[in-house]
Amino acid sequence: MTNTNFTEVSHSDDCEKYVNQFIQDFPIRAAEIGKGTVIKRALPSRQKRMIGAWCFLDHAGPVDFPQGDGLDVGPHPHIGLQTFTWMIEGTMMHTDSIGSKQLIRPKQVNLMTAGYGISHTEVAPDTETKMHAAQLWIALPDDKINMAPQFDHYPELPVAEKDDIEFTVLVGDFLGQHSPVKVHSELLGVDLFAKEATKSIIPLNPKYEYGFLALEGDAVVNGHTLNSDNMVVLEPGISQIEIQLPQGSRLLLIGGEPFESPILLWWNLVGRTQEELKLATEQWINHDVRFGTIPDYEGARLEAPTFPDKMRPSK
Ligand code: MN
Repeated sequence: MTNTNFTEVSHSDDCEKYVNQFIQDFPIRAAEIGKGTVIKRALPSRQKRMIGAWCFLDHAGPVDFPQGDGLDVGPHPHIGLQTFTWMIEGTMMHTDSIGSKQLIRPKQVNLMTAGYGISHTEVAPDTETKMHAAQLWIALPDDKINMAPQFDHYPELPVAEKDDIEFTVLVGDFLGQHSPVKVHSELLGVDLFAKEATKSIIPLNPKYEYGFLALEGDAVVNGHTLNSDNMVVLEPGISQIEIQLPQGSRLLLIGGEPFESPILLWWNLVGRTQEELKLATEQWINHDVRFGTIPDYEGARLEAPTFPDKMRPSK
């Protein structure tokens, strides 16, 4: 069966088998950020380093905590990437070295373009007691890797609705909706929320690779169970897929054209050569002007780990 035939027939066991050639699912791991906050890290993983230009994916919460015990990530640098934050529950204050200070609320996106270099802090307000968020990094393409740093806040994202699912279009185009979030690659990011138990066939771009992550509840993606401990990845080549969601489930779908260049990702830095990452690390250690300062933060800066001897490019 070819791709073209698949789009023309209804979903069947044959189709499920055909599409399954493009699917893998793998476990995601726990990691610690800030002061004891445990998150699930889906990217990069041994099985899959990147999905399009998406090169990092942390799922934080949902978690309740006493006032004053929220996330507090001290000043740290970034280069060569954009940090993308999707807030589901709770609030977080972003402050950076180019003078931005922005509280992010539920249903909003913060996009920080590090480019040549920036540093920032992420701190939950003292009165906050909840956090549920996804933070992703987007590798900048070769010609944008040294662009001037920038920060953008998107208070509202477009929503499409189909088969009792709310599709919030975070990045790119989906079901006729266009996200205003400014990225530099062919990329997709969608939050799917099931208002009722539902089954739906959703369109895909055969040029894209995709990843599904469960943010709340679970789901079935073409027969593959998706839950809080795994990720389902689709290789390029399919034009639609069947998803099944219980009421109240929330998924994150990310996708993009496979990234053009192998990247080096180390600590909070993305580059192409070990030398440029080493230079940026030394500049951070030496308080170089490249990463500016965050004057009103009271705690300590994050220290760079020991720089490795040999790095492996990821793609
Ligand atoms: Mn950061």
